[in-house]
Amino acid sequence: MKLYSTNNKELSVSFKDAVFNSLPADRGLYMPEHIPQLDPMFIRNIQQYSLPEIAFHVAHALIGNDIPEADLKKIVNEAINFDAPVRFLNKDTAVLELFHGPSYAFKDFGARFMSRVMGYFSKADDQLLDVLVATSGDTGGAVALGFLGVAGTRVTILYPKGKVSEVQELQLTTNGQNIRAIEIDGTFDDCQALVKRAFNDVQLNSELRLTSANSINIARLIPQTFYYFYTYAQLKAQGINEIVFTVPSGNFGNIGAGLLAYKMGLPVKHFVAATNVNDTVPRFLKSGKYEPKPSVQTLANAMDVGDPSNWVRIQDLFDQDLDHLKKMVTSYTYDDATTKDAMEQLFREYNYVACPHTAIAWVASQAYAREHPGQYASVFLSTAHPCKFPDAIAPDAFEQIEFPEGAKELTGKEKLAEHMLVDYDAFRRYLVENR
Ligand SMILES: *Cc1c(COP(=O)(O)O)cnc(C)c1O
Repeated sequence: MKLYSTNNKELSVSFKDAVFNSLPADRGLYMPEHIPQLDPMFIRNIQQYSLPEIAFHVAHALIGNDIPEADLKKIVNEAINFDAPVRFLNKDTAVLELFHGPSYAFKDFGARFMSRVMGYFSKADDQLLDVLVATSGDTGGAVALGFLGVAGTRVTILYPKGKVSEVQELQLTTNGQNIRAIEIDGTFDDCQALVKRAFNDVQLNSELRLTSANSINIARLIPQTFYYFYTYAQLKAQGINEIVFTVPSGNFGNIGAGLLAYKMGLPVKHFVAATNVNDTVPRFLKSGKYEPKPSVQTLANAMDVGDPSNWVRIQDLFDQDLDHLKKMVTSYTYDDATTKDAMEQLFREYNYVACPHTAIAWVASQAYAREHPGQYASVFLSTAHPCKFPDAIAPDAFEQIEFPEGAKELTGKEKLAEHMLVDYDAFRRYLVENR
């Protein structure tokens, strides 16, 4: 697999280099030079395959010989060791549940796959790989649990004190082993600024082998394509071939992976991007002008992104052709009041407790279906388990949530976190002195 930068198609780097650098120096994003077309026979018979089998087939098509087949199979089987079931709420509408992994969010797909790919490529090195990550909640848990026990790696997670939910904090701080957490007396932006400064610190980078677990890493995008194919397989087994996917979107990595799957030959009728009031992409699709804004805090806080970093990838997939893109992607934006109503309605009508991100996707899927009646399944993606968002969900619904076993076990575990002010020198000293 060779990759170019969205800012420079002449650049050509290996998969390994793209994984460890995350970002090209020209600040574009890595994209595959060549988008492989899956064998039509594979698509035709896809309902015969399991999720890990589909994942291997898709990953192999993209990555090629950069990872030998047997090793790739092992990586996929270890990473994708949980299900992604599709459940119908009524005859036309189904939810794709992506929260059955260890951190109860779809980011487990990306983080578990990336951690094992990094572990695989680092095997020959004797220096420990130091993964730094700033989180506003969901990413940290997925990265922590994704890398937990992966040989040759160590993860340092920075999170804003008092700004993540209880389950999220416990997922970050109770692991031990190769995972450590730093609670920063500041905001998510402060955490991110500290991590960015560390990556730009030449002296520090000569002492430690630093890498980012950033959501723009190509090794996080690839595994997110798997469940789009798997959804098609599940519906095909029921005789359904036409699907509209609705994706709750923040950084647009999830829907970007869906569009990549489509470009690889997955039959998809349409994509709907659902956002909270951070509506940079919906405004762009209307006006053709990309005008990022500072992010606004909402109930669906994992989507509070004012300048979605993966958007350039989507434009690249469509060769910057806005009309072509608009034929494939429609977007809707909703405020917190609508999000609350949607959660309540899902609970009342379907006895389904959804997290706020999922609820936004559901409203958007219904809006699209009303405006485009036809014979297709509306599949909306559930990106997180509701147990992670106690403050956003009405108490009567929250009470009905069945907590996953692992989440129950978290309560009572000892929180292990370093406490730190927003102070780069202190952060740097911590990294150097605790190696
Ligand atoms: C990260 C996240 C999103 C947004 O996904 P993007 O790939 O950034 O668009 C949506 N929902 C939840 C629960 C998330 O954690």
